[in-house]
Amino acid sequence: MPDRLVLFDIDATLVTTSRAGIRSLQDAGRELYAREFTIDGVEFAGRLDPLIIDDLLAANGIGVTERSRAELREAYGRHLERHLKVDGKASALPGVHRLIDLLAGEGAVTLGLLTGNFPETGRMKLSACGIEADGFAVRVWGCDSPHDPPARVDLPLVAMERFERMYARSIAAQDVTIVGDTPHDVACAKAHGCRCLAVATGMFDAGELAGADHVVEDLSCTAEISAWLRG
Ligand SMILES: [Mg+2]
Repeated sequence: MPDRLVLFDIDATLVTTSRAGIRSLQDAGRELYAREFTIDGVEFAGRLDPLIIDDLLAANGIGVTERSRAELREAYGRHLERHLKVDGKASALPGVHRLIDLLAGEGAVTLGLLTGNFPETGRMKLSACGIEADGFAVRVWGCDSPHDPPARVDLPLVAMERFERMYARSIAAQDVTIVGDTPHDVACAKAHGCRCLAVATGMFDAGELAGADHVVEDLSCTAEISAWLRG
């Protein structure tokens, strides 16, 4: 029975989509509201999609209601599907396929996702890179926080609860590792005493991710990383 849980972030950790997500949100806003719909001033990296949607609506003077949230989310998904069809737009980052295969084959860890993405768009991004979301037994998405407003820091406990339900036993925070590319990933791990493997494949360099337990340039040293994750 796996005694470790490894939770991967998606954007700039497992895959790159050449900013297709951000472009799709802008296209969705332009389609629904106005050509002037702007993404300026909104922070994207490492944040939860529901918070990004709210910020985009507010930044464009559109009322944040259940209806406006739902229509922007729906249009975002449609535009993302279109953008991801462009060849070469989305790809798995170095070492990702090998690392997932290695960890899944060893059976020593339970693979999971902990991401700010909505489930439908997170699945699209992974699938565009040949990664099956269902290969990760524990999946925690950007809309899975039990709190309002939601926060990434809420998500590790959701992942641990799902692990515990799945295996009918508890898991200690130090047996959970969060793999991510932003200080938000590091902070959500550290808030609960989870371990953090930071990967400098996004917009933050190793120095900016120094709060993590281990920082790597990318995931290509698969044997070493797999040993660290199991250790
Ligand atoms: Mg990320």
